[in-house]
Amino acid sequence: MPTMACIDCGAVHVEAASWQTMLVSMMPHYFDVHHDIIAGHRDHPSGAWMERFMAAFDEAMNSSE
Ligand SMILES: [Zn+2]
Repeated sequence: MPTMACIDCGAVHVEAASWQTMLVSMMPHYFDVHHDIIAGHRDHPSGAWMERFMAAFDEAMNSSE
């Protein structure tokens, strides 16, 4: 299963089979530590952040194979 570090600090690692689950599992950490990043995007992080997230998830997928 892909494991991904927090793309903004690397301090938290989350394991999830899909990017959706990864995103949901990562959100509590963002509410705690990176509130500024998701502020104003309560249910939906910004597009630029999602691009970084998806790139990191793709990388995690590739290295888990
Ligand atoms: Zn973090």
